[in-house]
Amino acid sequence: MRVAIAGGGLAGLACAKYLVDRGHQPVVLERSAVLGGLVAAWKDEDGDWVETGLHAFFGAYPNMLQLMAELGIGDRLQWKQHTLIFNQPEKPGTLSRFDVPDLPAPINVLVSILRNNDMLTWSQKLRFALGLWPAIVRGQKYVEAMDRYSLLEWLRRQGVDERVNTDIFVAASKALTFINPDEVSATVPLTALNRFLQERYGSKIAFLDGAPPERLCQPIADYVTARGGEVRTETPLRRINLTEHPEALGQVRSLTVGNGEEIVADAYVSAMSVDALKLLLPDEWKTLEFFQKTQQLEGVPVINVQLWFDRKLTDVDQLLFSRSPLLSVYADMSVACREYADPDRSMLELVLAPAADWIGRSEDDIVAATMAELAKLFPDQIPEPAKLRKARVVKTPRSVYKAVPGTQTLRPTQTTPIPNFFMAGSYTQQEYLGSMEGAVLSGKLAAQAVNNAAPSAVSTESTPAARVPPRA
Ligand SMILES: Cc1cc2nc3c(=O)[nH]c(=O)nc-3n(C[C@H](O)[C@H](O)[C@H](O)COP(=O)(O)OP(=O)(O)OC[C@H]3O[C@@H](n4cnc5c(N)ncnc54)[C@H](O)[C@@H]3O)c2cc1C
Repeated sequence: MRVAIAGGGLAGLACAKYLVDRGHQPVVLERSAVLGGLVAAWKDEDGDWVETGLHAFFGAYPNMLQLMAELGIGDRLQWKQHTLIFNQPEKPGTLSRFDVPDLPAPINVLVSILRNNDMLTWSQKLRFALGLWPAIVRGQKYVEAMDRYSLLEWLRRQGVDERVNTDIFVAASKALTFINPDEVSATVPLTALNRFLQERYGSKIAFLDGAPPERLCQPIADYVTARGGEVRTETPLRRINLTEHPEALGQVRSLTVGNGEEIVADAYVSAMSVDALKLLLPDEWKTLEFFQKTQQLEGVPVINVQLWFDRKLTDVDQLLFSRSPLLSVYADMSVACREYADPDRSMLELVLAPAADWIGRSEDDIVAATMAELAKLFPDQIPEPAKLRKARVVKTPRSVYKAVPGTQTLRPTQTTPIPNFFMAGSYTQQEYLGSMEGAVLSGKLAAQAVNNAAPSAVSTESTPAARVPPRA
């Protein structure tokens, strides 16, 4: 079958990959000149990579790890020590570590929490553990039901100490969803926490060894094109055309792309962000409840800041949780990422979130505010003696869907009421979050749905994700 996929982010590319595996011919239509969507990156005039976002991979990403293994690029993930590191705002310049021992889950995570005495007292830890207990024993069904509460409401209902919220959950919530615990659905952080508690290496972090478009997206595109598929950049979808054939009313007849060309296929997949799809939905579909729900989802703003310094600020080879009101996670990519390595000078990559109040501000304001926060994280180096050589700011006004309470049931499935139209994207329903793993899994599920709908379906079995243990 010929399958047209609008969107060349990880979801669209993964969908194309799993379609060629089943003998179909996908054509990926990507609006921008670069593949990757939210993982896109490009080189500036100095030849330095500028990224849409700092991206951490986790051991609990089975579908991403399987995809990379199938492409023969699994060794491009640089696995870090199994630890989570937090800045301590009350002691500027100091770090607090949750070192996870190599023991079976969940003992390993519990030991890491019990051994950390910087951030929580014993009574806070005990109330935290008791509060979490229902989520651990009652599993994902309970976690999904908690979508009616914000994380902060849930923590209060469970009697968890406010310090646990300010010390741990503000950082976790910002890192996972770019919003604070008073806004985020309790389901999202609890889902992540459950994975970390269930999988021995679930919370182990890796960075890609270079820029995602070259090191991750291009190999997927090469795999697809080598097997008869097509990947076109600078080909925006402009219109979804519906058939007037009485027996297939409401179904897609073709897609019109930027240059006016009409793309005709046997099946069509939207792998665009939810905001882009909402603008292109045919009027005839807007009355269907399925698409009405989707209309209520929207992307959340986030800002990525990259700062190049004239000296080394740190030798920490890991993702750090800044615990700053302005910033979320950050890393020194001159240490953590092979392609960006510099033995003498740091390049910090930082995520600014929540970003609603900053997305309209000037780049100079954003850099100045980030530097003021960094003076608290690196008080011996910033503002003196370290000098900022260069800064790059990438604003994404609408990134992953905003995971506020009540949104879980609004997320569409990959199969839609339109028999020849399918959906992929990290915002669609899948058991992972609005993440790279969620994007890959959604693409795989969409490919399965297309294949199952094919007149001569090659196979209707799902492809289970391999459990590839991350290497030390
Ligand atoms: C700052 C930042 C940090 C992040 N950090 C992490 C992290 O550490 N770990 C993690 O797992 N995830 C992280 N994420 C989330 C992750 O990047 C996303 O969940 C994932 O990449 C989404 O992929 P997607 O394919 O679903 O959507 P997208 O990447 O949004 O892809 C959609 C594609 O559709 C294209 N498109 C839109 N309109 C059209 C059109 N009309 N025609 C054709 N194409 C169109 C877009 O250009 C885009 O390429 C982060 C995101 C950001 C922004």
